[in-house]
Amino acid sequence: MDYPEATNLPFNTCTMGDGFSVIRPGDPDPGEPGCWIVFQGETLVLDAARGVSFIEGELPDWIGKRGSVILIGTWKGKPVRILEISADNEIPPGYIVEPLLRIYFNERLPDDLLTLAGRAQQILAWERKSSVCSSCGSGMERIQGTWGKRCTGCKYEHFPHIHPCTLVLVRRGDELLLIRKPEWPKGYYSIPSGFCDFGESLEECARREVEEETGVRIRNLLYVGSQSWPFPGQLMIGFTAEYAGGEIVVDREELEDAAWFRRDSLPPTFSAGSIAGWMLDRFGKQP
Ligand SMILES: [Zn+2]
Repeated sequence: MDYPEATNLPFNTCTMGDGFSVIRPGDPDPGEPGCWIVFQGETLVLDAARGVSFIEGELPDWIGKRGSVILIGTWKGKPVRILEISADNEIPPGYIVEPLLRIYFNERLPDDLLTLAGRAQQILAWERKSSVCSSCGSGMERIQGTWGKRCTGCKYEHFPHIHPCTLVLVRRGDELLLIRKPEWPKGYYSIPSGFCDFGESLEECARREVEEETGVRIRNLLYVGSQSWPFPGQLMIGFTAEYAGGEIVVDREELEDAAWFRRDSLPPTFSAGSIAGWMLDRFGKQP
């Protein structure tokens, strides 16, 4: 798949094209069956009967006791809702039950449906975590027209948590700086990345993360694009940078390896559907 701009990557809203329209919390429910994004715990339940997709129309009989239903918008003109089902609800043959990240890696869904599922997963994670106030423990009520909630006790207003995380493609002549984490598939490498800390600009975060993980100092940071990453709620912010000094010292707490690779002989890296893969394709492999 070719992604001309980072904004076209999966999980970014524009990847859904004109198919999706937002319905804000509190807006009226159109009341038709529509499309159901069904979660059982952390896994998504997909209908595999006619190609792989969400469950559509009337809910099938095997769905027993229904958990909460969250209306999030319309998909191709039909209401789209998130439905949680209980762990003991047995799923009959003809369905795929997998975590969203595996659905993404296995390319089970086209990018538009994957993006819709990512939005649903982020909303569901927020709704689950925001049932009580983290300041005083009281219940919460919706702030109309938003995903935010107001505490019924201390009145503190809580909004969804989105965590900025920078990624940096560091170049030194014909070489790229890549890292490897122990939990990744055998032989895979990617570019350094890490979460913003208190008081940091994105550029400061990018410089610190590269130096902490690899010992390498960088300069000429240039923003190239971003990607929403619903695992569970990151915003991945991509930069390119040039090598400015330092020898590689691998942070063994976080990494298995860090090394310079020639751009024409890179190890396996993640797909172009992630911003790291997109940056490697777009800014790494060609001079
Ligand atoms: Zn409170």
